[in-house]
Amino acid sequence: MEALVHLSRMQATYLTFRLSISPVRILRRSMASDSVTRFDLLVLGGGSGGLAGARRAAELGATCAVVEDHKLGGTCVNVGCVPKKVMWNASVHAEYLHDHADYGFEGAQASFSWQQIKNKRDAYVGNLNQIYRNNLDKARIQTIQGTARFTNDSEPTVEVSGKKYTAPHILIATGGHPSTVSEEVIPGASLGITSDGFFELESCPRRSVIVGAGYIAVEMAGILSSLGSKTSLIIRHDEVLRNFDALISSNCTKELQNSGIDLWRNTQVKSVQKTEEGLDVTLVTKDPKDKDSEKKIDRIQGVDCLLWAIGREPNTAGLNLSQIGVKLDTKGCIVVDEFQNTTRQGIYALGDVCGKALLTPVAIAAGRKLAHRLFEGRAESKLDYTNIPTVVFTHPPIGTIGLTEDEANRCWGKANVKTYTTSFTPMYHAITTRKTKCIMKLVCAGKEEKVVGLHMQGLGCDEMLQGFAVAIKMGATKADFDNTVAIHPTSAEELVTMR
Ligand SMILES: Cc1cc2nc3c(=O)[nH]c(=O)nc-3n(C[C@H](O)[C@H](O)[C@H](O)COP(=O)(O)OP(=O)(O)OC[C@H]3O[C@@H](n4cnc5c(N)ncnc54)[C@H](O)[C@@H]3O)c2cc1C
Repeated sequence: MEALVHLSRMQATYLTFRLSISPVRILRRSMASDSVTRFDLLVLGGGSGGLAGARRAAELGATCAVVEDHKLGGTCVNVGCVPKKVMWNASVHAEYLHDHADYGFEGAQASFSWQQIKNKRDAYVGNLNQIYRNNLDKARIQTIQGTARFTNDSEPTVEVSGKKYTAPHILIATGGHPSTVSEEVIPGASLGITSDGFFELESCPRRSVIVGAGYIAVEMAGILSSLGSKTSLIIRHDEVLRNFDALISSNCTKELQNSGIDLWRNTQVKSVQKTEEGLDVTLVTKDPKDKDSEKKIDRIQGVDCLLWAIGREPNTAGLNLSQIGVKLDTKGCIVVDEFQNTTRQGIYALGDVCGKALLTPVAIAAGRKLAHRLFEGRAESKLDYTNIPTVVFTHPPIGTIGLTEDEANRCWGKANVKTYTTSFTPMYHAITTRKTKCIMKLVCAGKEEKVVGLHMQGLGCDEMLQGFAVAIKMGATKADFDNTVAIHPTSAEELVTMR
Protein backbone atom coordinates (compact mmCIF):
# COMPACT_ATOMS: atom_id res chain seq x y z
CA MET A 1 0.00 0.00 0.00
CA GLU A 2 2.97 2.34 0.50
CA ALA A 3 3.36 2.58 -3.24
CA LEU A 4 -0.11 4.08 -3.39
CA VAL A 5 0.82 7.05 -1.25
CA HIS A 6 1.63 9.33 -4.17
CA LEU A 7 -1.54 8.48 -6.06
CA SER A 8 -4.74 10.44 -5.81
CA ARG A 9 -7.32 9.12 -3.40
CA MET A 10 -9.54 7.91 -6.24
CA GLN A 11 -6.69 6.19 -8.09
CA ALA A 12 -5.65 4.45 -4.91
CA THR A 13 -9.20 3.26 -4.31
CA TYR A 14 -9.38 1.73 -7.77
CA LEU A 15 -5.98 0.05 -7.53
CA THR A 16 -6.90 -1.45 -4.18
CA PHE A 17 -10.21 -2.55 -5.68
CA ARG A 18 -8.45 -4.05 -8.73
CA LEU A 19 -5.78 -5.87 -6.75
CA SER A 20 -8.36 -7.34 -4.45
CA ILE A 21 -10.93 -8.52 -6.97
CA SER A 22 -9.54 -8.88 -10.44
CA PRO A 23 -6.45 -11.09 -10.59
CA VAL A 24 -8.03 -12.98 -13.49
CA ARG A 25 -8.20 -9.85 -15.61
CA ILE A 26 -4.58 -8.98 -14.89
CA LEU A 27 -3.48 -12.52 -15.81
CA ARG A 28 -5.44 -12.35 -19.06
CA ARG A 29 -3.82 -9.03 -19.83
CA SER A 30 -0.33 -10.56 -19.62
CA MET A 31 -1.36 -13.37 -21.99
CA ALA A 32 -2.81 -10.88 -24.49
CA SER A 33 -2.25 -11.55 -28.11
CA ASP A 34 0.00 -8.95 -29.71
CA SER A 35 -2.51 -8.07 -32.37
CA VAL A 36 -5.17 -6.88 -29.91
CA THR A 37 -4.49 -3.84 -27.74
CA ARG A 38 -6.07 -4.08 -24.30
CA PHE A 39 -7.36 -1.42 -21.95
CA ASP A 40 -9.40 -1.47 -18.76
CA LEU A 41 -12.05 0.64 -20.47
CA LEU A 42 -12.63 1.11 -24.18
CA VAL A 43 -15.05 3.90 -25.08
CA LEU A 44 -16.71 4.18 -28.47
CA GLY A 45 -17.56 7.84 -29.13
CA GLY A 46 -15.73 10.94 -27.91
CA GLY A 47 -18.82 13.01 -27.17
CA SER A 48 -20.33 14.23 -23.91
CA GLY A 49 -20.94 10.82 -22.32
CA GLY A 50 -17.92 8.97 -23.66
CA LEU A 51 -15.41 11.63 -22.66
CA ALA A 52 -16.92 12.07 -19.20
CA GLY A 53 -16.90 8.31 -18.56
CA ALA A 54 -13.34 7.86 -19.81
CA ARG A 55 -11.93 10.80 -17.88
CA ARG A 56 -13.55 9.77 -14.62
CA ALA A 57 -12.38 6.16 -15.12
CA ALA A 58 -8.82 7.40 -15.78
CA GLU A 59 -8.94 9.50 -12.59
CA LEU A 60 -9.83 6.29 -10.80
CA GLY A 61 -6.74 4.58 -12.20
CA ALA A 62 -8.14 2.72 -15.21
CA THR A 63 -6.28 2.55 -18.51
CA CYS A 64 -8.65 3.95 -21.13
CA ALA A 65 -9.00 4.64 -24.81
CA VAL A 66 -11.61 6.66 -26.67
CA VAL A 67 -12.46 5.92 -30.30
CA GLU A 68 -13.83 8.90 -32.23
CA ASP A 69 -14.51 9.07 -35.93
CA HIS A 70 -15.25 12.78 -36.20
CA LYS A 71 -14.41 15.64 -33.83
CA LEU A 72 -13.90 15.33 -30.08
CA GLY A 73 -16.75 16.81 -28.08
CA GLY A 74 -19.44 15.10 -30.14
CA THR A 75 -22.80 16.61 -30.99
CA CYS A 76 -22.94 19.10 -28.11
CA VAL A 77 -19.69 20.85 -28.92
CA ASN A 78 -19.71 20.62 -32.71
CA VAL A 79 -23.31 20.68 -33.93
CA GLY A 80 -25.48 21.02 -30.82
CA CYS A 81 -25.68 22.95 -27.55
CA VAL A 82 -22.55 25.05 -27.90
CA PRO A 83 -22.82 26.53 -31.43
CA LYS A 84 -26.61 26.69 -30.97
CA LYS A 85 -26.26 28.77 -27.81
CA VAL A 86 -23.85 31.16 -29.56
CA MET A 87 -26.47 31.68 -32.29
CA TRP A 88 -29.24 32.05 -29.70
CA ASN A 89 -27.21 34.70 -27.90
CA ALA A 90 -26.81 36.53 -31.23
CA SER A 91 -30.53 36.29 -31.84
CA VAL A 92 -31.32 37.64 -28.36
CA HIS A 93 -29.17 40.67 -29.25
CA ALA A 94 -31.23 41.11 -32.41
CA GLU A 95 -34.44 40.95 -30.38
CA TYR A 96 -33.27 43.53 -27.86
CA LEU A 97 -32.38 45.95 -30.66
CA HIS A 98 -36.15 46.39 -31.12
CA ASP A 99 -36.34 47.71 -27.55
CA HIS A 100 -33.40 50.13 -27.73
CA ALA A 101 -35.52 53.15 -28.68
CA ASP A 102 -37.97 52.36 -25.86
CA TYR A 103 -35.04 52.44 -23.43
CA GLY A 104 -33.83 55.78 -24.77
CA PHE A 105 -31.19 54.64 -27.24
CA GLU A 106 -32.12 56.53 -30.38
CA GLY A 107 -30.73 56.46 -33.87
CA ALA A 108 -28.11 53.72 -33.81
CA GLN A 109 -28.69 51.41 -36.77
CA ALA A 110 -27.03 48.05 -36.23
CA SER A 111 -26.08 45.83 -39.13
CA PHE A 112 -25.50 42.15 -38.56
CA SER A 113 -22.74 40.00 -40.04
CA TRP A 114 -23.59 36.29 -40.03
CA GLN A 115 -20.14 35.57 -41.39
CA GLN A 116 -18.50 37.27 -38.41
CA ILE A 117 -20.48 35.38 -35.81
CA LYS A 118 -19.93 32.12 -37.71
CA ASN A 119 -16.16 32.68 -37.84
CA LYS A 120 -16.03 33.45 -34.11
CA ARG A 121 -18.28 30.50 -33.30
CA ASP A 122 -16.19 28.09 -35.39
CA ALA A 123 -12.99 29.36 -33.76
CA TYR A 124 -14.52 28.84 -30.30
CA VAL A 125 -15.61 25.32 -31.19
CA GLY A 126 -12.17 24.58 -32.71
CA ASN A 127 -10.59 25.68 -29.43
CA LEU A 128 -12.87 23.38 -27.48
CA ASN A 129 -11.89 20.44 -29.74
CA GLN A 130 -8.25 21.13 -28.88
CA ILE A 131 -8.99 21.48 -25.16
CA TYR A 132 -10.75 18.11 -25.18
CA ARG A 133 -7.76 16.54 -26.92
CA ASN A 134 -5.34 18.06 -24.38
CA ASN A 135 -7.49 16.86 -21.51
CA LEU A 136 -7.39 13.31 -22.85
CA ASP A 137 -3.63 13.47 -23.30
CA LYS A 138 -3.16 14.83 -19.78
CA ALA A 139 -5.28 12.03 -18.37
CA ARG A 140 -3.24 9.51 -20.43
CA ILE A 141 -6.29 8.38 -22.27
CA GLN A 142 -5.44 7.10 -25.74
CA THR A 143 -7.39 8.77 -28.55
CA ILE A 144 -8.03 6.43 -31.45
CA GLN A 145 -9.19 8.30 -34.54
CA GLY A 146 -11.51 6.28 -36.75
CA THR A 147 -14.79 4.40 -36.95
CA ALA A 148 -15.30 1.62 -34.43
CA ARG A 149 -17.03 -1.64 -35.32
CA PHE A 150 -17.32 -4.83 -33.30
CA THR A 151 -15.62 -7.82 -34.91
CA ASN A 152 -16.95 -11.37 -34.97
CA ASP A 153 -14.39 -12.54 -32.34
CA SER A 154 -15.83 -14.45 -29.39
CA GLU A 155 -14.39 -11.93 -26.90
CA PRO A 156 -15.96 -8.51 -27.60
CA THR A 157 -13.36 -6.80 -29.77
CA VAL A 158 -13.49 -3.54 -31.68
CA GLU A 159 -11.77 -2.83 -34.97
CA VAL A 160 -10.69 0.65 -35.99
CA SER A 161 -8.83 1.21 -39.27
CA GLY A 162 -7.69 -2.42 -39.36
CA LYS A 163 -6.42 -2.53 -35.75
CA LYS A 164 -8.09 -4.47 -32.96
CA TYR A 165 -8.81 -3.29 -29.42
CA THR A 166 -10.53 -4.87 -26.45
CA ALA A 167 -11.27 -4.33 -22.77
CA PRO A 168 -13.22 -6.08 -20.03
CA HIS A 169 -15.41 -2.98 -20.03
CA ILE A 170 -16.56 -1.47 -23.32
CA LEU A 171 -18.76 1.62 -23.30
CA ILE A 172 -20.86 2.53 -26.33
CA ALA A 173 -21.53 6.28 -26.39
CA THR A 174 -21.87 6.86 -30.11
CA GLY A 175 -24.75 9.36 -29.86
CA GLY A 176 -27.14 10.02 -32.72
CA HIS A 177 -27.72 11.95 -35.93
CA PRO A 178 -30.60 13.98 -37.38
CA SER A 179 -33.38 12.03 -39.11
CA THR A 180 -33.82 12.71 -42.79
CA VAL A 181 -36.68 12.07 -45.21
CA SER A 182 -36.23 9.78 -48.19
CA GLU A 183 -36.88 11.00 -51.72
CA GLU A 184 -39.48 8.25 -52.13
CA VAL A 185 -41.56 9.70 -49.31
CA ILE A 186 -41.16 13.37 -50.22
CA PRO A 187 -39.72 14.07 -53.67
CA GLY A 188 -37.04 16.74 -53.42
CA ALA A 189 -36.57 16.22 -49.65
CA SER A 190 -32.79 15.93 -50.04
CA LEU A 191 -32.69 19.58 -51.17
CA GLY A 192 -33.17 20.45 -47.50
CA ILE A 193 -30.62 20.46 -44.68
CA THR A 194 -30.71 19.28 -41.05
CA SER A 195 -29.49 20.95 -37.86
CA ASP A 196 -25.96 19.77 -38.80
CA GLY A 197 -26.25 21.78 -42.05
CA PHE A 198 -27.53 24.82 -40.16
CA PHE A 199 -24.08 25.21 -38.62
CA GLU A 200 -22.50 25.23 -42.09
CA LEU A 201 -24.63 28.10 -43.44
CA GLU A 202 -22.30 30.86 -44.64
CA SER A 203 -24.94 33.59 -44.64
CA CYS A 204 -28.31 34.27 -43.08
CA PRO A 205 -30.99 32.73 -45.31
CA ARG A 206 -33.48 35.23 -46.73
CA ARG A 207 -36.37 32.75 -46.64
CA SER A 208 -36.41 29.75 -44.31
CA VAL A 209 -38.81 26.88 -43.90
CA ILE A 210 -38.34 24.71 -40.81
CA VAL A 211 -40.18 21.40 -40.59
CA GLY A 212 -40.79 19.94 -37.14
CA ALA A 213 -42.36 20.70 -33.79
CA GLY A 214 -39.71 19.51 -31.36
CA TYR A 215 -37.24 21.60 -29.42
CA ILE A 216 -34.62 21.75 -32.17
CA ALA A 217 -37.24 22.95 -34.70
CA VAL A 218 -38.54 25.74 -32.46
CA GLU A 219 -35.05 26.83 -31.45
CA MET A 220 -33.83 26.99 -35.06
CA ALA A 221 -36.98 28.83 -36.18
CA GLY A 222 -36.52 31.39 -33.40
CA ILE A 223 -32.85 31.98 -34.19
CA LEU A 224 -33.38 32.39 -37.94
CA SER A 225 -36.41 34.62 -37.54
CA SER A 226 -34.77 36.90 -34.96
CA LEU A 227 -31.67 37.26 -37.13
CA GLY A 228 -33.77 38.51 -40.04
CA SER A 229 -34.74 35.47 -42.11
CA LYS A 230 -38.42 35.34 -43.07
CA THR A 231 -39.27 32.04 -41.40
CA SER A 232 -42.12 29.56 -41.74
CA LEU A 233 -42.55 26.68 -39.33
CA ILE A 234 -44.41 23.62 -40.60
CA ILE A 235 -46.01 21.43 -37.91
CA ARG A 236 -48.08 18.27 -38.40
CA HIS A 237 -50.44 18.96 -35.52
CA ASP A 238 -51.91 21.97 -33.82
CA GLU A 239 -49.13 22.94 -31.45
CA VAL A 240 -45.38 22.64 -30.97
CA LEU A 241 -43.58 20.77 -28.14
CA ARG A 242 -46.50 18.40 -27.68
CA ASN A 243 -44.73 16.23 -25.11
CA PHE A 244 -44.25 19.24 -22.80
CA ASP A 245 -46.87 20.49 -20.33
CA ALA A 246 -49.94 21.74 -22.21
CA LEU A 247 -49.35 25.29 -20.92
CA ILE A 248 -45.88 25.32 -22.47
CA SER A 249 -47.08 23.90 -25.80
CA SER A 250 -49.83 26.47 -26.20
CA ASN A 251 -47.79 29.42 -24.96
CA CYS A 252 -44.74 28.56 -27.04
CA THR A 253 -46.95 28.20 -30.14
CA LYS A 254 -48.37 31.69 -29.44
CA GLU A 255 -44.95 33.24 -28.80
CA LEU A 256 -43.59 31.84 -32.06
CA GLN A 257 -46.39 33.62 -33.90
CA ASN A 258 -46.06 36.71 -31.73
CA SER A 259 -42.41 36.98 -32.77
CA GLY A 260 -43.37 37.01 -36.46
CA ILE A 261 -42.85 33.36 -37.42
CA ASP A 262 -45.31 32.17 -40.06
CA LEU A 263 -46.80 29.02 -38.50
CA TRP A 264 -48.46 26.31 -40.60
CA ARG A 265 -50.53 23.98 -38.40
CA ASN A 266 -51.79 20.52 -39.44
CA THR A 267 -49.50 20.78 -42.43
CA GLN A 268 -46.97 18.52 -44.10
CA VAL A 269 -44.49 19.00 -46.92
CA LYS A 270 -45.65 17.20 -50.07
CA SER A 271 -42.73 17.90 -52.38
CA VAL A 272 -39.78 20.21 -52.94
CA GLN A 273 -38.54 21.53 -56.26
CA LYS A 274 -35.52 23.56 -57.21
CA THR A 275 -36.22 26.67 -59.30
CA GLU A 276 -34.14 29.66 -60.32
CA GLU A 277 -35.54 31.67 -57.40
CA GLY A 278 -34.73 28.98 -54.83
CA LEU A 279 -36.72 26.04 -53.52
CA ASP A 280 -40.42 25.66 -54.12
CA VAL A 281 -41.96 23.89 -51.11
CA THR A 282 -45.42 22.41 -51.67
CA LEU A 283 -47.51 21.97 -48.53
CA VAL A 284 -50.65 20.01 -47.72
CA THR A 285 -52.90 21.21 -44.92
CA LYS A 286 -55.82 19.24 -43.56
CA ASP A 287 -58.22 20.03 -40.75
CA PRO A 288 -57.84 17.01 -38.44
CA LYS A 289 -61.22 17.65 -36.77
CA ASP A 290 -63.10 17.59 -40.07
CA LYS A 291 -62.47 14.27 -41.83
CA ASP A 292 -64.39 15.36 -44.92
CA SER A 293 -62.50 18.60 -45.38
CA GLU A 294 -60.59 19.10 -48.59
CA LYS A 295 -56.83 18.98 -48.45
CA LYS A 296 -55.51 22.47 -49.04
CA ILE A 297 -52.41 22.76 -51.21
CA ASP A 298 -50.10 25.75 -50.83
CA ARG A 299 -46.62 26.67 -51.96
CA ILE A 300 -43.83 28.62 -50.36
CA GLN A 301 -41.48 29.90 -53.05
CA GLY A 302 -37.98 31.32 -53.16
CA VAL A 303 -36.82 29.32 -50.13
CA ASP A 304 -33.06 29.31 -49.59
CA CYS A 305 -33.09 27.24 -46.39
CA LEU A 306 -35.34 24.22 -45.93
CA LEU A 307 -34.45 22.63 -42.61
CA TRP A 308 -35.75 19.25 -41.48
CA ALA A 309 -35.86 19.05 -37.69
CA ILE A 310 -37.97 15.92 -37.43
CA GLY A 311 -36.14 13.93 -34.80
CA ARG A 312 -32.90 12.09 -34.19
CA GLU A 313 -31.75 8.51 -34.67
CA PRO A 314 -29.14 6.53 -32.74
CA ASN A 315 -25.72 5.76 -34.24
CA THR A 316 -25.94 1.99 -33.98
CA ALA A 317 -26.31 0.80 -37.57
CA GLY A 318 -22.63 0.23 -38.35
CA LEU A 319 -21.51 -1.22 -35.02
CA ASN A 320 -22.31 -4.89 -35.76
CA LEU A 321 -24.16 -5.11 -32.43
CA SER A 322 -26.35 -8.10 -33.28
CA GLN A 323 -23.18 -10.17 -33.61
CA ILE A 324 -22.19 -9.57 -29.99
CA GLY A 325 -25.65 -9.92 -28.47
CA VAL A 326 -26.38 -6.27 -27.69
CA LYS A 327 -30.13 -5.81 -28.01
CA LEU A 328 -31.69 -2.84 -29.79
CA ASP A 329 -35.25 -1.55 -29.48
CA THR A 330 -37.54 -0.95 -32.46
CA LYS A 331 -36.00 2.48 -33.06
CA GLY A 332 -32.47 1.06 -33.13
CA CYS A 333 -31.58 2.47 -29.68
CA ILE A 334 -29.50 0.30 -27.34
CA VAL A 335 -31.53 -1.35 -24.59
CA VAL A 336 -29.93 -0.80 -21.18
CA ASP A 337 -30.92 -1.38 -17.58
CA GLU A 338 -30.78 1.29 -14.88
CA PHE A 339 -27.02 0.70 -14.50
CA GLN A 340 -26.37 1.26 -18.25
CA ASN A 341 -25.70 -2.47 -18.73
CA THR A 342 -26.57 -3.73 -22.20
CA THR A 343 -27.73 -7.31 -22.77
CA ARG A 344 -24.08 -8.40 -23.18
CA GLN A 345 -22.00 -8.58 -20.03
CA GLY A 346 -19.12 -6.10 -19.95
CA ILE A 347 -20.69 -3.84 -22.57
CA TYR A 348 -22.46 -0.66 -21.48
CA ALA A 349 -24.23 2.13 -23.31
CA LEU A 350 -25.36 5.63 -22.38
CA GLY A 351 -26.34 9.00 -23.77
CA ASP A 352 -28.27 9.61 -26.99
CA VAL A 353 -27.55 6.13 -28.34
CA CYS A 354 -29.98 4.81 -25.71
CA GLY A 355 -32.73 7.21 -26.84
CA LYS A 356 -33.68 8.46 -23.38
CA ALA A 357 -33.37 12.07 -22.11
CA LEU A 358 -31.23 13.28 -25.00
CA LEU A 359 -29.27 15.93 -23.12
CA THR A 360 -25.57 16.58 -22.61
CA PRO A 361 -25.60 16.69 -18.78
CA VAL A 362 -27.52 13.39 -18.74
CA ALA A 363 -24.85 11.66 -20.86
CA ILE A 364 -22.07 13.19 -18.73
CA ALA A 365 -23.65 12.23 -15.42
CA ALA A 366 -24.38 8.67 -16.62
CA GLY A 367 -20.76 8.31 -17.80
CA ARG A 368 -19.34 9.44 -14.47
CA LYS A 369 -21.70 7.27 -12.44
CA LEU A 370 -20.73 4.25 -14.52
CA ALA A 371 -17.01 4.92 -14.01
CA HIS A 372 -17.52 4.99 -10.24
CA ARG A 373 -19.40 1.70 -10.37
CA LEU A 374 -16.81 -0.08 -12.52
CA PHE A 375 -13.58 1.34 -11.14
CA GLU A 376 -14.31 2.37 -7.57
CA GLY A 377 -16.44 -0.57 -6.54
CA ARG A 378 -19.50 1.58 -5.91
CA ALA A 379 -22.01 -1.10 -6.85
CA GLU A 380 -25.03 1.18 -6.51
CA SER A 381 -23.66 4.06 -8.57
CA LYS A 382 -26.23 4.92 -11.24
CA LEU A 383 -27.96 7.97 -12.62
CA ASP A 384 -31.42 8.85 -11.33
CA TYR A 385 -33.37 9.78 -14.46
CA THR A 386 -36.20 11.50 -12.57
CA ASN A 387 -36.49 15.28 -12.28
CA ILE A 388 -34.06 16.19 -15.03
CA PRO A 389 -34.29 19.94 -15.62
CA THR A 390 -34.25 21.10 -19.20
CA VAL A 391 -34.29 24.39 -21.08
CA VAL A 392 -35.50 25.17 -24.58
CA PHE A 393 -33.80 28.22 -26.03
CA THR A 394 -36.84 29.80 -27.61
CA HIS A 395 -37.79 33.49 -27.46
CA PRO A 396 -38.41 33.79 -24.56
CA PRO A 397 -36.78 30.64 -23.16
CA ILE A 398 -38.57 27.69 -21.60
CA GLY A 399 -37.53 25.96 -18.38
CA THR A 400 -39.12 22.74 -17.24
CA ILE A 401 -38.61 19.94 -14.73
CA GLY A 402 -40.59 16.99 -13.44
CA LEU A 403 -44.06 15.81 -14.29
CA THR A 404 -46.43 17.62 -16.62
CA GLU A 405 -49.92 18.16 -15.23
CA ASP A 406 -51.23 15.24 -17.33
CA GLU A 407 -48.46 12.94 -16.11
CA ALA A 408 -49.09 13.94 -12.50
CA ASN A 409 -52.81 13.23 -12.92
CA ARG A 410 -51.96 9.78 -14.25
CA CYS A 411 -49.38 9.05 -11.51
CA TRP A 412 -51.13 10.52 -8.48
CA GLY A 413 -54.81 10.59 -9.51
CA LYS A 414 -56.44 13.85 -10.50
CA ALA A 415 -57.94 14.43 -7.04
CA ASN A 416 -54.45 14.44 -5.50
CA VAL A 417 -52.95 16.98 -7.88
CA LYS A 418 -53.13 20.72 -7.46
CA THR A 419 -51.66 23.23 -9.88
CA TYR A 420 -50.76 26.89 -9.48
CA THR A 421 -50.39 29.00 -12.59
CA THR A 422 -49.55 32.58 -13.33
CA SER A 423 -49.19 34.68 -16.44
CA PHE A 424 -47.76 38.19 -16.46
CA THR A 425 -45.76 40.68 -18.47
CA PRO A 426 -42.21 40.86 -17.07
CA MET A 427 -41.16 44.28 -15.81
CA TYR A 428 -38.58 44.53 -18.59
CA HIS A 429 -41.50 45.02 -20.99
CA ALA A 430 -43.22 47.68 -18.87
CA ILE A 431 -41.74 50.35 -21.13
CA THR A 432 -41.24 48.46 -24.40
CA THR A 433 -43.59 48.33 -27.36
CA ARG A 434 -42.57 44.73 -28.02
CA LYS A 435 -44.03 42.39 -25.41
CA THR A 436 -43.48 38.79 -24.39
CA LYS A 437 -45.29 37.00 -21.59
CA CYS A 438 -44.02 35.00 -18.69
CA ILE A 439 -46.10 31.96 -17.75
CA MET A 440 -45.46 29.60 -14.87
CA LYS A 441 -47.04 26.44 -13.56
CA LEU A 442 -46.32 24.49 -10.38
CA VAL A 443 -47.66 20.95 -10.31
CA CYS A 444 -48.11 19.75 -6.72
CA ALA A 445 -49.13 16.33 -5.50
CA GLY A 446 -50.40 14.69 -2.33
CA LYS A 447 -51.52 16.18 0.98
CA GLU A 448 -48.16 17.83 1.51
CA GLU A 449 -48.33 19.44 -1.93
CA LYS A 450 -44.94 18.18 -2.96
CA VAL A 451 -43.80 20.09 -6.03
CA VAL A 452 -43.53 17.38 -8.69
CA GLY A 453 -43.38 19.63 -11.75
CA LEU A 454 -42.40 23.16 -12.68
CA HIS A 455 -42.96 24.57 -16.16
CA MET A 456 -42.28 28.11 -17.29
CA GLN A 457 -41.60 30.28 -20.30
CA GLY A 458 -40.42 33.85 -20.05
CA LEU A 459 -37.40 36.14 -19.92
CA GLY A 460 -34.75 34.63 -17.66
CA CYS A 461 -36.50 31.26 -17.18
CA ASP A 462 -33.43 29.49 -18.60
CA GLU A 463 -31.20 30.68 -15.77
CA MET A 464 -33.99 30.58 -13.21
CA LEU A 465 -34.56 26.83 -13.39
CA GLN A 466 -31.34 25.33 -12.04
CA GLY A 467 -31.78 26.50 -8.43
CA PHE A 468 -35.43 25.49 -8.33
CA ALA A 469 -34.39 22.10 -9.75
CA VAL A 470 -32.25 21.54 -6.64
CA ALA A 471 -35.23 22.29 -4.40
CA ILE A 472 -37.51 19.97 -6.37
CA LYS A 473 -34.92 17.19 -6.44
CA MET A 474 -34.72 17.53 -2.64
CA GLY A 475 -38.49 17.05 -2.39
CA ALA A 476 -39.59 20.64 -1.72
CA THR A 477 -43.25 21.28 -1.04
CA LYS A 478 -45.40 24.26 -1.97
CA ALA A 479 -45.04 25.40 1.67
CA ASP A 480 -41.23 25.38 1.29
CA PHE A 481 -41.59 27.59 -1.78
CA ASP A 482 -43.94 29.92 0.12
CA ASN A 483 -41.55 30.10 3.11
CA THR A 484 -38.80 31.45 0.90
CA VAL A 485 -38.57 35.22 0.81
CA ALA A 486 -39.00 36.63 -2.68
CA ILE A 487 -36.35 38.57 -4.59
CA HIS A 488 -37.85 41.79 -5.91
CA PRO A 489 -38.27 42.91 -8.63
CA THR A 490 -37.69 39.73 -10.62
CA SER A 491 -39.85 37.28 -12.52
CA ALA A 492 -38.53 34.48 -10.31
CA GLU A 493 -40.28 35.91 -7.25
CA GLU A 494 -43.59 34.79 -8.75
CA LEU A 495 -42.56 31.18 -8.12
CA VAL A 496 -42.51 31.71 -4.35
CA THR A 497 -45.64 33.84 -4.18
CA MET A 498 -48.15 31.80 -6.17
CA ARG A 499 -51.63 31.32 -4.72
C1 LIG B 1 -29.06 21.16 -32.52
C2 LIG B 1 -28.90 20.53 -31.17
C3 LIG B 1 -28.98 21.31 -30.04
C4 LIG B 1 -28.83 20.74 -28.79
N1 LIG B 1 -28.92 21.53 -27.69
C5 LIG B 1 -28.77 21.00 -26.46
C6 LIG B 1 -28.82 21.83 -25.31
O1 LIG B 1 -29.01 23.04 -25.41
N2 LIG B 1 -28.64 21.25 -24.10
C7 LIG B 1 -28.42 19.90 -23.97
O2 LIG B 1 -28.25 19.43 -22.84
N3 LIG B 1 -28.38 19.09 -25.05
C8 LIG B 1 -28.54 19.61 -26.29
N4 LIG B 1 -28.46 18.80 -27.39
C9 LIG B 1 -28.30 17.33 -27.19
C10 LIG B 1 -26.86 16.96 -26.90
O3 LIG B 1 -26.01 17.48 -27.89
C11 LIG B 1 -26.73 15.44 -26.83
O4 LIG B 1 -27.69 14.95 -25.92
C12 LIG B 1 -25.36 14.98 -26.37
O5 LIG B 1 -24.37 15.46 -27.21
C13 LIG B 1 -25.32 13.45 -26.31
O6 LIG B 1 -24.05 13.01 -25.93
P1 LIG B 1 -23.55 11.56 -26.32
O7 LIG B 1 -22.25 11.38 -25.64
O8 LIG B 1 -24.62 10.58 -26.09
O9 LIG B 1 -23.35 11.60 -27.91
P2 LIG B 1 -22.53 12.61 -28.81
O10 LIG B 1 -22.17 13.84 -28.11
O11 LIG B 1 -23.30 12.73 -30.07
O12 LIG B 1 -21.17 11.82 -29.09
C14 LIG B 1 -21.13 10.67 -29.87
C15 LIG B 1 -19.79 10.63 -30.59
O13 LIG B 1 -19.59 9.33 -31.12
C16 LIG B 1 -18.97 9.42 -32.38
N5 LIG B 1 -19.24 8.18 -33.10
C17 LIG B 1 -20.42 7.73 -33.57
N6 LIG B 1 -20.29 6.51 -34.10
C18 LIG B 1 -18.98 6.17 -33.98
C19 LIG B 1 -18.22 5.03 -34.33
N7 LIG B 1 -18.76 3.97 -34.90
N8 LIG B 1 -16.89 5.05 -34.06
C20 LIG B 1 -16.30 6.10 -33.46
N9 LIG B 1 -16.98 7.21 -33.09
C21 LIG B 1 -18.31 7.24 -33.34
C22 LIG B 1 -19.60 10.67 -32.99
O14 LIG B 1 -18.79 11.23 -34.00
C23 LIG B 1 -19.72 11.58 -31.77
O15 LIG B 1 -18.61 12.42 -31.63
C24 LIG B 1 -28.59 19.34 -28.67
C25 LIG B 1 -28.50 18.54 -29.82
C26 LIG B 1 -28.66 19.13 -31.05
C27 LIG B 1 -28.55 18.26 -32.27
